[in-house]
Amino acid sequence: MNNSQIKILREDVICKISAGEVVERPASVVKELVENSIDAGAGSISIDIESAGQALIRVADDGNGMTPEDAKLACTRHATSKIADIGDLDRLNTFGFRGEALASIAAVSQMDLVTRRQGTDAGTHIELESGEIRRIRPAGRDTGTTIEVRNLFFNVPARRKFLKKDATELAEIASVVGHFAVSYPAIEFRLAHGVRTILHVTPSMDMLERIRLVLGGDVADSMVDVSFSSGLRNVKGFISLPSSTRKDKSSQLFFVNGRNVRSRALGDALHDAYASMLERGRYPSAVLFVDLPSSEIDVNVHPTKLLVKFDDEKNIKALVSDAIRLRFDALKTVKQHDAVERSFPGPAPFSTSHETAEVFHSDAPGIQTQFSYDIKKESGGKPAPWGWPAAKTSPERRDVETPGIFQLGDCYIVRMSQGEIEITDQHAAHERVFYEYFTKAVSGGAHDVQSLLFPVRLDLSASDTLIMSKILDAFKALGFLIEAFGERSYVVQGVPALLKDRDVKAVVMDALTDLSEKDLAKIDVVDEMVKIMSCRAAVKAGDKLTADEMYAILEQLYRCDLPFTCPHGRPTIIELKVGDLERMFRRK
Ligand code: ADP
Ligand code: MG
Repeated sequence: MNNSQIKILREDVICKISAGEVVERPASVVKELVENSIDAGAGSISIDIESAGQALIRVADDGNGMTPEDAKLACTRHATSKIADIGDLDRLNTFGFRGEALASIAAVSQMDLVTRRQGTDAGTHIELESGEIRRIRPAGRDTGTTIEVRNLFFNVPARRKFLKKDATELAEIASVVGHFAVSYPAIEFRLAHGVRTILHVTPSMDMLERIRLVLGGDVADSMVDVSFSSGLRNVKGFISLPSSTRKDKSSQLFFVNGRNVRSRALGDALHDAYASMLERGRYPSAVLFVDLPSSEIDVNVHPTKLLVKFDDEKNIKALVSDAIRLRFDALKTVKQHDAVERSFPGPAPFSTSHETAEVFHSDAPGIQTQFSYDIKKESGGKPAPWGWPAAKTSPERRDVETPGIFQLGDCYIVRMSQGEIEITDQHAAHERVFYEYFTKAVSGGAHDVQSLLFPVRLDLSASDTLIMSKILDAFKALGFLIEAFGERSYVVQGVPALLKDRDVKAVVMDALTDLSEKDLAKIDVVDEMVKIMSCRAAVKAGDKLTADEMYAILEQLYRCDLPFTCPHGRPTIIELKVGDLERMFRRK
């Protein structure tokens, strides 16, 4: 397999390259060796590490191996067809490194290379130290290559000093191998530190199982699949629900045409798709595979080949955001159906009256349908603390009749569903419902205003008067009827119907107080008011709910555009699956 294009680089060039980024730390050695194994068509790659890679890194594969001549060339000098002189180094950014990894690694370690080329009957064993060949001999081996790197940086003490704690270096190695494990589902990967197996994935595992092993069960369990195409471009993979986020981006993996990349554009697209569903400083988990015609990307913009550049960045971002948004929409529809169906299974045992059932199944579009409980409220029912009809039958009886749903700690709605327990924060969920109701009412200009039989007079302090004058329009936008009454007084003559059972004075004063702490010039006052009113209108933690009320909250929640978080970005729903229990009970 002689290749006349291969040239031997001069020593100064080699040094320059070796000082580069190829062999920065044990993890970069692992990365280069595994990449070579993948390039060689390996179906199984074993990585053994000792002392976090400082004592030993061994990568063994069943790829197509090297002839004795190739093996010698590959690791002694910069065998490459890509660059010839130092001046060419500047162009590496566009070429990427070729032919430097093995030599660079050999130069800073004691290396053993054992390889046998497919179709030949003898293998080769080459021993090197500081890049010099010490010994070559025939060796028995199946087709494939094993490279052992011992005492990394033994001859570059300065480098050795820069290595981080063993745990850190090992974590980095595990992360490198993990990324390969996720991006090459057809390859078996095994990573061991001493006698301890850190990761073992086989081709029979599905992607989610691999993700579970690489990113952990918590991340994997919070994920749903996505798959979306637009022309020749497509996105597939797994993303977390907005309710299970993390405080860093460590569980966001992006692959472009099978290669693990870092990409700000993809990160931004992901973030955009979750938009207002995320709390500040929280990040979703995602394993996303983006496939594009290779003419549309440049993966060699960085020497370590991790960065990727898209020709049409805007389009790619839209592709990813759309894929995620569509998935959430679909999910919501399923949940919504689920909630409605479960609300009234069969002859609707929980339904207190025909009217109530009608509300759920009404075809009338829009918010009015969702919020028509008020109108249908019957005088017979004890008013619930938050203005919806109370159930006619006693709560105790219902609890017996409806084991599918119950309230925990007067705060959480717990519901059984196939294979999982769904726990909803009653306040957060209801807040989301009202938030969207008020937002739509504000933008649509349609209000359900309830005139007060006894108008409420507010006598304000000088500073509150100032704030009130600034936010009076916002109050009106929300459906309050408030008039100035003298210099420092206002009269509230009407409120949004949903707030009619509330302490009107307290609601208005609290809004003033909340807003006095904000810089009104910098915030969206109406949106802020909507949040405050939603919080006020929603059931509180501590409010006792009947089964009907709980179902109503869930049903309305799933009609929301963004059901999985409250307006402040906290999760509304948490799901506990059988798999979670199995892990908690350490069955798995
Ligand atoms: P590059 O991968 O950029 O060509 P390397 O220094 O990493 O440069 O490897 C040099 C050459 O050695 C490769 O091009 C390949 O021909 C050969 N090689 C390295 N590792 C393996 C392996 N595991 N199996 C087969 N061939 C290998
Ligand atoms: Mg290589």
